[in-house]
Amino acid sequence: MLIAGPCSAESYEQVLETSRELAAIPGLFGLRAGIWKPRTRPGSFEGIGEQSLPWLIEAGNELGLPVAAEVAKTEHVEACLKAGVSILWIGARTTVNPIYVQELAEAMRGADVNVLVKNPIHPEINLWIGALERFEQVGIQSIGAVHRGYFSLAASPYRNEAGWELAVELRERVPEVPILCDPSHIAGKRALVPEVCQIALDLGLDGLMVEAHNNPERALSDADQQLTPKRLKEVIASLTIRDQINGNILVSNELQKLRAQIDEVDHELIQIVAKRLEIIREIANEKDKHNLAIFQLKRWMEIVETRKQAANESKLSSSMIHELFRVIHKNALEEQVRILNKRNSD
Ligand code: PEP
Ligand code: MN
Repeated sequence: MLIAGPCSAESYEQVLETSRELAAIPGLFGLRAGIWKPRTRPGSFEGIGEQSLPWLIEAGNELGLPVAAEVAKTEHVEACLKAGVSILWIGARTTVNPIYVQELAEAMRGADVNVLVKNPIHPEINLWIGALERFEQVGIQSIGAVHRGYFSLAASPYRNEAGWELAVELRERVPEVPILCDPSHIAGKRALVPEVCQIALDLGLDGLMVEAHNNPERALSDADQQLTPKRLKEVIASLTIRDQINGNILVSNELQKLRAQIDEVDHELIQIVAKRLEIIREIANEKDKHNLAIFQLKRWMEIVETRKQAANESKLSSSMIHELFRVIHKNALEEQVRILNKRNSD
């Protein structure tokens, strides 16, 4: 499922020209445009507002497609419902606030409208699920989620941290909710949009909401990340859509064999973790005997360093191994605290 259109509706000509060019994309499901734009700093282009709604409606009518707009206030909901916008999306800056989300949901009570909820700007899955529930509670029949990545200070080529694990967890927790990906706000740069689209499809997400503009360089918002409709058409044609299930029995037999090997390796892994914990218990006894503190910074630094080196030698990601040992070490500390506490209280 593909929804495409400009970050913001800027002018009648821009909306209509963009949508006419988008019409060349086979299977295009709907058109998007931001009418009211939540901008980080005042003074940026904040959307034309209600006056631009008829442009989007006209574009949708011309193509015979549903249209989507972001709503952040009850007045936005009322204006969109009156104008005939059939997909309302909740922006990342709104999903973070349950009071706003509830107000928006109340304004839609009983309405025959589709709602898409973007993930909040920070990776808190319960806020995302909570927002989905608020729309369900007011009787919205068609609710979807949009994964748009999240704000992070970590250095990355992307504008937002992709945080795919968040979308995967949403899938686990509410499997019935379709999830679209917004590769534009994850990537932040035109050139990176295609790879983000492909990852989203590889992870089995259900569709894309992509920003496209007839003249991206001149866009009044998000100029760096918008594609021309022509380029978007090429990108969509280049994507590989993978199946969840492969009907070819030979492929699945091979996969089954490999999965059996993985089951075995995981079993060994668990046995090794258990063996390590046994040694930790003996260490706790020794520390107790010699009245030593549980946490020894020097030893922990040594573990981090040597395990990272070993990871490099085995061509494993050293940050992944660091993370793994952080979890193992945390558990080891907790076990020692438990043992010494028990000893103290005996
Ligand atoms: C948008 O879709 O243009 C937008 C503002 O997105 P987000 O809420 O994900 O930042
Ligand atoms: Mn945008």
